[in-house]
Amino acid sequence: MSSKTAPVWVIAEQIGGVISEVCFELIGKAAKLGADLGVSAEAILLGDVSPDQVDLLYQAGAELVYQINFPDFDRFQTEIISEAINILSLEVQPQILLIGSTYLGRELAPLIAAKLNTGLTAHCIDLILNNKNVLEQWIPAYGGQIVITCPEKRPQIATVARGVFPTPAFNKNKTGKVIPVSLPENLHPRVKTIEIIREEPEGVPLEEAQTVVAGGSGAGSMEGWKEIEKLADILNAALGSTRPVVDEGWSDLESMIGQSGKMVHPDLYIGVGLSGEQQHMVGIVGAKVMVAINNDPKSPVFEQVDIGIVENCREFIPVFIKKLKDNLDKSTPR
Ligand SMILES: Cc1cc2nc3c(=O)[nH]c(=O)nc-3n(C[C@H](O)[C@H](O)[C@H](O)COP(=O)(O)OP(=O)(O)OC[C@H]3O[C@@H](n4cnc5c(N)ncnc54)[C@H](O)[C@@H]3O)c2cc1C
Repeated sequence: MSSKTAPVWVIAEQIGGVISEVCFELIGKAAKLGADLGVSAEAILLGDVSPDQVDLLYQAGAELVYQINFPDFDRFQTEIISEAINILSLEVQPQILLIGSTYLGRELAPLIAAKLNTGLTAHCIDLILNNKNVLEQWIPAYGGQIVITCPEKRPQIATVARGVFPTPAFNKNKTGKVIPVSLPENLHPRVKTIEIIREEPEGVPLEEAQTVVAGGSGAGSMEGWKEIEKLADILNAALGSTRPVVDEGWSDLESMIGQSGKMVHPDLYIGVGLSGEQQHMVGIVGAKVMVAINNDPKSPVFEQVDIGIVENCREFIPVFIKKLKDNLDKSTPR
């Protein structure tokens, strides 16, 4: 089977033989774009996985799966992986390349764009074909959303975080094989991974949480941040943050919600001491009920939530926690 003209490509990364969820979401999107453009959606699998995992790529909508693999394949060898994608791109000429905003994807995307001398839009929140079949790449910026296009160079490259596009319906009847990409013999790894130490995530994972408490710079200090942490704890919620919280070192990057952070879909979102900047709010568009606590009644966050509480969070949160604890104590049978 050979590739159709100018396909839509998706990088399919895997960790420990399991393909990352965002790749399926992107294949679903690539299949829709491909259908509109009259071209195929194709996946570039990085490393080795079981045939069942390959089938999932086909079932999600890929019409062809290439595989970049080499002895001692290592996902951190981005120099080799990007060169392999470069060589394959020059041969197949994809018109669009979608990459998950994962740690690997964020490193690979600019390397590939530079090698192919084309454009890259990072952290897109939507991808739409315009009337000339050029990809409109939507990102939050300047207090709203802007569209970036790459009208001349190909491929048009975009990175997208997990949760921006839905997981597609899997067609269980589809199966398929991989097409190995042959690599030039002179490609030798200059990086070797000696050891990977995984940090165990604490508490409820943000992307799966039913309740999310997110704090912003209004927390004021580590002490204020700890109170927001306590609120998340008592509500059995996942703890999220805005960029300034990460910059201050009150929480780590893993907690950041938004355009360059995580996308969340809770039943209840409580934003504390944050202003409702687009780059944060795009990460919570999937929330069902949104509450904001902010001491500025004119804060733009209040225009975007269901329930607004005008309070100084540093005074309000400790009292709120005490009330919640008292209620819990009353309702717990002795
Ligand atoms: C390319 C790009 C990508 C970005 N990606 C992200 C992203 O993924 N996620 C993200 O979060 N940000 C991101 N940002 C940053 C984003 O633009 C905002 O700067 C950030 O979200 C603002 O965080 P904040 O609301 O905590 O702080 P601020 O905007 O400073 O707002 C603080 C709010 O707290 C309120 N406040 C102050 N004191 C109190 C108090 N005592 N009690 C109650 N309220 C109080 C204030 O009224 C104010 O509304 C990105 C920016 C760029 C340029």
